[in-house]
Amino acid sequence: MRIDILTLFPDMIKPALSHSMMWRATHYGFVNIHVHDFRAFSESKHKSVDDSPYGGGAGMVLRVEPVVNALRSIENHEHALKILMTPQGITYNQTRAETLSKNEHIIILCGHYEGYDERIRDYFDVEISIGDYVLTGGEIAALAVVDSIVRLIPGVLSNDASAQEDSFSNALLEYPQYTRPRVYEGKSVPDILLSGHHEEIAKWRFEEAVRRTKIRRPDLYQQYQENKKK
Ligand code: SAM
Repeated sequence: MRIDILTLFPDMIKPALSHSMMWRATHYGFVNIHVHDFRAFSESKHKSVDDSPYGGGAGMVLRVEPVVNALRSIENHEHALKILMTPQGITYNQTRAETLSKNEHIIILCGHYEGYDERIRDYFDVEISIGDYVLTGGEIAALAVVDSIVRLIPGVLSNDASAQEDSFSNALLEYPQYTRPRVYEGKSVPDILLSGHHEEIAKWRFEEAVRRTKIRRPDLYQQYQENKKK
């Protein structure tokens, strides 16, 4: 898989790629991630990438030409899935992460300033929001998307089963987890987890996942119940 990230702040992205799963995924060749500073593609004398909005108003607007030039400089960009990060996009979730992780090539644009020249949207296939709040720029949002995709590529997690058991992967939140010590300040690990009965443990975990989802996320629980009927 290849991921290209277009940004005005490459130094916000690059350090995050050198740690944990994103480092593992790139280091072992599961994914190639390229970070491009699209300011370099501005045709203006001072390499500006923004301008004031037609019609007036607060803030600056990202200009179309540096973005499109940067996009076209990427090898095979015609065949890549092009994603625009924006709070106006579809809300990101685990199902979308699973779908994106099956793409061969993804290009992600991180916005900045007050917004995009509307014509930029014509060059992208999908608009993604990571939630109903506004960030200063798209870098943190893009990293959230990249991290969630990369850990789903088979082989990236040392134990692929852990991704399958993660919250949301089957429309349920994950069951409660415990590790040593067996008792901490009077709080004990449930006996079932010490029993060695794998089938009983799996049953308990499943029931706990359902119970937890019902209490914490009634919306997800309802979706889970509807999926069961299908
Ligand atoms: N004025 C814009 C609006 O209301 O839609 C918000 C602009 S925001 C300050 C600047 C950039 O940050 C956006 O273009 C986008 O790339 C990114 N961004 C901010 N919040 C985001 C979110 N929730 N999800 C994805 N990207 C976001």
